[in-house]
Amino acid sequence: MTPGDGMMITPEVLDQLERRYLPAAEQKCVICGAPLTFSSSGEGGNRYNCSSAGASPLAATLRSDVPLLKRMEHYRGSAWTDRGEASPHVVELVRAYRAMAFPEKAS
Ligand SMILES: [Zn+2]
Repeated sequence: MTPGDGMMITPEVLDQLERRYLPAAEQKCVICGAPLTFSSSGEGGNRYNCSSAGASPLAATLRSDVPLLKRMEHYRGSAWTDRGEASPHVVELVRAYRAMAFPEKAS
């Protein structure tokens, strides 16, 4: 068995891991990069969605010229559930590995 056998660690896998283990306060919308905001409590954990007006399904914030359907897609697409797995150590590892394996993708 050599490194690289079995599961491929792609940049996408690293992004998924980072998103899964980042604490809620540091989560960003995958669509626009805005911070996420608490939206509801469910069985799987606390649900967060994009905080930007462009992602609001609420009529109260209709100031936005983005059509409702687009805002709904944005809102749903940004959904993230806090399952209590946040781990700064895992995030640190993911970032270190990304910087080593995919230097062009490291931020
Ligand atoms: Zn967004």
